[in-house]
Amino acid sequence: VLLDGGVGSEIVRRGVRWRWHGLRTDAEAVKKIHQDYVAAGADVISTDTFQLTRRIYLNLFHNLEHMRRIGAPGLERRAEELTRLAVSLAREAAAGAGGGRRVAVAGVVGPLGHPFRPDLAPSAEEARREHAETVRLLSECGCDLILFECMNTVAEAEGAVEAARDVRRDLPVWVSFVCEPGGRILSGEGLAEAARALEPLAPEALLVNCAPAAEVEEAVAALAGSTRRPVGAYAHVGRFDPPSWKFEFHPRFVKTEEWPPVRYAEAARAWTRKGARIVGGCCGTTPDHVRAMSEVRT
Ligand SMILES: [Zn+2]
Repeated sequence: VLLDGGVGSEIVRRGVRWRWHGLRTDAEAVKKIHQDYVAAGADVISTDTFQLTRRIYLNLFHNLEHMRRIGAPGLERRAEELTRLAVSLAREAAAGAGGGRRVAVAGVVGPLGHPFRPDLAPSAEEARREHAETVRLLSECGCDLILFECMNTVAEAEGAVEAARDVRRDLPVWVSFVCEPGGRILSGEGLAEAARALEPLAPEALLVNCAPAAEVEEAVAALAGSTRRPVGAYAHVGRFDPPSWKFEFHPRFVKTEEWPPVRYAEAARAWTRKGARIVGGCCGTTPDHVRAMSEVRT
């Protein structure tokens, strides 16, 4: 199964200002990115909803009352409003696939804290409560599956899958972890431990994402050796370049030329040999990377 590549990083790369996830001012540009991924051969495209939750707005204020007092009108409902738009753009792009192809739309849910800061991750109960709200909305908007990505603790991943099951038992759930060398996720917990903890909840697939392409093969092998569920991977290419690194997670990417599409596709092929059945690209990858993977597909 071929996933798409980076969405947020591609929005920024195309010169769209990262505000409102690029959605309110540049909806057509966001839709074009989805369409380009569909044309490149993606079977699954992901919504522009990474960390698009009520919490990201609330976090900027002392509390809800404070936000109401000094925040812009409509802030409380902004995440919902943008999510509805984001899903509709992905759905339109998927519907336009043509040639009898069926392209699925994955409703993306990021971590509640920071993707690379497991120390800021919520407890399982908190995650269950807050992710349920996001999943309910994505499901209502017509997503075919939920993709929890950049999970960096086992507790949040568990709460997240429970939330999805609470909302709708028949909605497929994929869970992707940010991995680090040594078969571990960023919290230091093992991928095997993560797979074991999630097993009773029967997620439809387990993946790793947002690690450098060179580190993914080891993680895929560790994950594939720990579960009988479908395993997948999508790596980032290039290096994160803050200062735009706050509020929503949208750094620029530099040095992406170290992983041109053909090299990336070769790496992805190696992941499939280690057991990955789902591959795609994370931050910094483009429709060209997806096309290259599509071309080496067997
Ligand atoms: Zn990433």
